[in-house]
Amino acid sequence: MTTLTDQVLLITGGASGIGRATVRRCAEKGAKVMVADLNLAGAQAVAEEVTAAGGQAAAVAVDVSDFAAVQSAVQTAVDTFGRLDGIFNNAGIAGGRPLLDHDPERDYHPMIRIDQDGVYYGILAAGRQFVKQGGGGVIVNTSSIYGEQAAELSFTYSAAKAAVISFTRSAAYELAEHGTRVLAITPGRANTAIIQQFPQQLRDLFASEQLRNVMTEPEEIANVVAFLFSEESNAMNGTVVNVDDGYSVFKHRFE
Ligand code: NAD
Repeated sequence: MTTLTDQVLLITGGASGIGRATVRRCAEKGAKVMVADLNLAGAQAVAEEVTAAGGQAAAVAVDVSDFAAVQSAVQTAVDTFGRLDGIFNNAGIAGGRPLLDHDPERDYHPMIRIDQDGVYYGILAAGRQFVKQGGGGVIVNTSSIYGEQAAELSFTYSAAKAAVISFTRSAAYELAEHGTRVLAITPGRANTAIIQQFPQQLRDLFASEQLRNVMTEPEEIANVVAFLFSEESNAMNGTVVNVDDGYSVFKHRFE
């Protein structure tokens, strides 16, 4: 069974959805988790829930689009739990408009700052901390199937998520000499707030895009992330792991 005993993990976007499920799962497997989110109250609630269940977690406010704030969150994890063994660069926002309707200040730059720059900042801050500790460490980044393909209303989101895939490969290359592994996940349709905001008809369509006609639950993605943080995935580095129930492997059903 995957174990994360005494590993110190920083999880961004930990107040909700995939991040929250990953906090819970990693804590169950023995990790000490720093729950980082723009929504501090939400992060605190998740940390308190973990602590009440006998796990170890604490919360910190972070805006991942601010490098100083990300560095400070890493430092808080180190101050609280003594070291850092992994970071899940997962915080993100979704949505978008048709390209020709874009106002760059509204539809491009803000999302790039969060979904793209935020992951870069997490890689940089955690990577430096790992080197300070003598090397090692695991970085897991949340990309998306949209990082590998074009999609409606997703010009900026796809660009940011494609950059996350590129960051993952390049950072795996650059940090290998320090013993650090870098991995990415690409969720398809995960049943979180990002999707729940849409009307039922659209959610049914989203579910039908996955091979088994159901959306992926955040807990199922959390299982994969916990595995990526564990020694059991030690052979994997620079790998992009599809957690999309086959969304990315087919195009049409003839029915
Ligand atoms: P979610 O909305 O439930 O969770 C996102 C979390 O990120 C929230 O807690 C939010 O407060 C936090 N956040 C947003 N901006 C932030 C910022 N600037 N700094 C710090 N925290 C911030 O959504 P989710 O589905 O769990 O999304 C998690 C990740 O998964 C995102 O990167 C998203 O793009 C990606 N993803 C989701 C799906 C899906 O179908 N749900 C598919 C592919 C990729």
